[in-house]
Amino acid sequence: MAKILCVLYDDPVNGYPTSYARDAVPEIKVYEDGQRAPTPKAIDFVPGHLLGSVTGGLGLRKFLEDQGHTFVVTSDKDGPDSVFEQELPDADIVISQPFWPAYLTPARFEKAKKLKLALTAGIGSDHVDLESAIKHGVTVAEVTGSNSISVAEHAVMMILALVRNYLPAHEWVEKGGWNIADCVERSYDLEGMHVGTVAAGRIGLAVLRRLKPFQTHLHYYQRHRLPEAVEKELGLTFHPTVEDMAEVCDIITINAPLHPGTLNMFNDAMLAKMKRGAYIVNTARAEICSRDGIVRNLQNGHLAGYAGDVWFPQPAPKDHPWRTMPYQGMTPHMSGTSLSAQVRYAAGTREILESWFEKRPLREEYVIVDGGKLAGTGAKAYTV
Ligand code: NAD
Repeated sequence: MAKILCVLYDDPVNGYPTSYARDAVPEIKVYEDGQRAPTPKAIDFVPGHLLGSVTGGLGLRKFLEDQGHTFVVTSDKDGPDSVFEQELPDADIVISQPFWPAYLTPARFEKAKKLKLALTAGIGSDHVDLESAIKHGVTVAEVTGSNSISVAEHAVMMILALVRNYLPAHEWVEKGGWNIADCVERSYDLEGMHVGTVAAGRIGLAVLRRLKPFQTHLHYYQRHRLPEAVEKELGLTFHPTVEDMAEVCDIITINAPLHPGTLNMFNDAMLAKMKRGAYIVNTARAEICSRDGIVRNLQNGHLAGYAGDVWFPQPAPKDHPWRTMPYQGMTPHMSGTSLSAQVRYAAGTREILESWFEKRPLREEYVIVDGGKLAGTGAKAYTV
């Protein structure tokens, strides 16, 4: 029997919900790229209920305990005295979500002598040291595709919110004002602007598709060029380097995984190449951007705005400068964990566990590391 150690974010401050704003969420069976949504044999949760917090337990408790496995769920994940670190040495499987990541560092891999599977309930396994996973023969898997559209919608929302100056305008309403000039002195239309995505994988391409009806000029930079038919359909301009794209865009949306090839990509030198008054929306990973470079460029007016939901570390400390820098529309890491997304990644986590316990191969698209090397989606999207 296995011990499954699961790290999830805390329940709401007022307790686990007893009712919800809506009675149902739409069921998505096939994703935009044709991939099938998760197909576990069964689920033990109500779609639309909160699954990603400690009490929700990703809807896995009954499934795991009925088979005699031990299921430990905690939000206490950081530091040597944390529940996570105490429970790690005899855990066979670790599950965590990128929103509240259990950082699996090289030192923790050394302690996790029994670990066989590191499972990301969501997308993005950079909180797992992939080199250590390769070295220790640990399989890394994630629920590819499960929240891509959730994130794409958030990115589009943030682009519009920044360009149109939505958040400061809303604040005037709450303050009791009617200050039209204050609201519009930084408000523009998206129409006609040049928008570029760093990476056009599942999320990046979905952002481009959603922006097309806004009559924008669309650009992309990524490792593998898209099929010509897709470039034509969306009117895309491909850029062979990110610098080349940064120079011509009014808005950059970042949708690449974090790995050595993207770490600190938007450093001072790259930010200096961007147009004055450009915006950045980063819902990928914080460390793709220089933390202090972003602050400096907002303060000196080179950037007109920055938004996103990804930070380092997570949770972000109270004094993280991105909480207080000007012209920002940050949220906590939430775009990929809407109640709609939770249905899919909880089902996908269960599907992966079913395959694992029955010794069936995981779907190739879920695999990041296997057999001591990058594999599946991992081989396409990551480097070590
Ligand atoms: P994906 O695997 O479908 O696409 C990633 C793309 O990035 C691939 O096409 C790959 O070729 C490209 N790429 C990798 N390295 C690159 C580089 N150096 N330069 C240019 N392109 C590069 O993944 P996805 O589903 O689109 O997700 C992308 C990332 O978004 C994830 O890795 C994760 O970090 C982040 N994400 C965030 C949230 C959230 O809640 N904010 C949720 C899901 C995913």
